[in-house]
Amino acid sequence: MATSTTSTPARDLRQWLARLGDSDRLAVTRENVPLEHQLAAIAKRLDGSKAAWFPKPGGHAIPVVSGFMSRRSWIAEAMGVPESGLLEAYRRAAENPLPCEEVAADDAPCQQVVHMEIDLQRLLPIPTHSEHDNGAYITAGMVIARNPVTGVQNVSINRIQVHAKDRMAILILPRHLFSYWQAAEAAGQALPVAVVIGADPLTLLASQAVVPIDHDEMEIAGALHGRPLRVVKCKTNDVRVPADAEIVIEGRLLPNVRELEGPFGEFPKYYSAQEKREVIQVDAVTHRKSPIYHTIVPAEMEHLLLGAIPREATLLAHLQRSFPGVKDVHLSVGGVARYHLHVKFDKRREGEPKNVMMCAFAGHYDVKQVIVVDTDVDVHDPQQVEWAVATRFQADRDLMVVAGAQGSVLDPSTTVGQDGPNGEPAPPYCQGISAKMGLDATKPVAYHGHVFTKVRVPGEESVDLAREVVAGARIDWNNPGA
Ligand code: MN
Repeated sequence: MATSTTSTPARDLRQWLARLGDSDRLAVTRENVPLEHQLAAIAKRLDGSKAAWFPKPGGHAIPVVSGFMSRRSWIAEAMGVPESGLLEAYRRAAENPLPCEEVAADDAPCQQVVHMEIDLQRLLPIPTHSEHDNGAYITAGMVIARNPVTGVQNVSINRIQVHAKDRMAILILPRHLFSYWQAAEAAGQALPVAVVIGADPLTLLASQAVVPIDHDEMEIAGALHGRPLRVVKCKTNDVRVPADAEIVIEGRLLPNVRELEGPFGEFPKYYSAQEKREVIQVDAVTHRKSPIYHTIVPAEMEHLLLGAIPREATLLAHLQRSFPGVKDVHLSVGGVARYHLHVKFDKRREGEPKNVMMCAFAGHYDVKQVIVVDTDVDVHDPQQVEWAVATRFQADRDLMVVAGAQGSVLDPSTTVGQDGPNGEPAPPYCQGISAKMGLDATKPVAYHGHVFTKVRVPGEESVDLAREVVAGARIDWNNPGA
């Protein structure tokens, strides 16, 4: 679909879905699609072409939607910018947050219906996604918590497994939520949280901003919207949630409680192992009248892009601080939109690409491979990047390898064997210990003749095929020249 530079950002999820529906980008399924596997299978088949809408999934009254931000161009459209301006617009918002606007409960659609008697799977249509997943998972829940000391909020998306009517286990990686949680648990206290399902695209994108701790991601959501995000205080705790969201689960992370969670199919298209995780005790569920439930099918484009775009914006800003010659970056889809970074760089002096690589590895621990290319290569086109590696890179000269750094714990190739206490070999497991590989696929600054000049044919971009090609022309193969 064409990206309009004049479109206004979608205010809430419904407005965005209506826009997709009006432009033939929302596929509506039959009723009663099973919540176990079948719903995710259909969404996966539609991934990147249409969002999927499931009325009465598994007979449940609440519809499910998936894949409504599965293209870069759609995300740019939701932000109201051209695709080429996506990273710059995101960066501007991340650097200029807008404080939220608190509204009263009766002005908050997300609290139109309040449930205090909790049976999660009766209340919500929570799908089971991948083959070896250990049951139903909330995959598009924005987890909001407050710093127990300062009250500043944090937003992140964490996978959450439903364990009982009112209990869920959650994966908390060692980032901001983890810090808040550690402080609470060290004091022997529960950490109040809210899990928000059915937010608008911009609030979801803001939740993935790579900003320092105690920077409220909802203020970035406000900046992306161009007006403060409306928030409301939860019914059972002090957490503030987006007032225009569809569904909110209120609860507490319980101190000194762990339960087994997993396996679960994650973004690298592999399963995380079953391990003991933190537990949320659910106190209330609130939602709009006739709410919409959002599920992200793991490892599909919606999942990959949600992580990639904020990371690209942050990595671009990070690199440009030291290297103004960096023009664009892209986390390739094949590199699960997290591990492989392509950098477009205007090289002025030999050796600079290696400095750029080191800066990129320091920018995010997930980055495992960096390919630096010249400005005549489109970093979004894997074929062009491979061409640059094929013709401007020599492994003995242009390859940089750093051994034993920290990488993604979800990358199965970081698996190591660990011996037991008596030296007995234990099964290998994922530790995140990762090598970093940098490829300098730039041409020399100076060279003779046209050794490194990319071949082009004069007129190839400007030729008018409608004028040059004769429609319906036939050739007499007995006399081809006639
Ligand atoms: Mn944060």
